[in-house]
Amino acid sequence: MAKELFLKNYMEDCVWELLDQVLDQEPQACRCDTCRLDIVALALNQLPPRYAVREKGAIYSKLAMLEAQHRADIYRALTQAIMKVKEAPRHDR
Ligand SMILES: [Zn+2]
Repeated sequence: MAKELFLKNYMEDCVWELLDQVLDQEPQACRCDTCRLDIVALALNQLPPRYAVREKGAIYSKLAMLEAQHRADIYRALTQAIMKVKEAPRHDR
């Protein structure tokens, strides 16, 4: 059976992974789905992609590729993105 391969951007996983931690430090930031997606999109546009070819169904350790330096960059990008979304949220109110 042919293996099903796909492209995976690890940076995206890492950003989602750290989103809640960073949001916890910004209690005033909105946590609705619209704002969360906007925050992640803005942050990812600031960060270099980390693509790898993966096999469907295989289990990989989540943050294995994530070094301390990446973590710091992601924290910074997320913090900036949260500030931007806080100033101009797109959610309905
Ligand atoms: Zn919101």
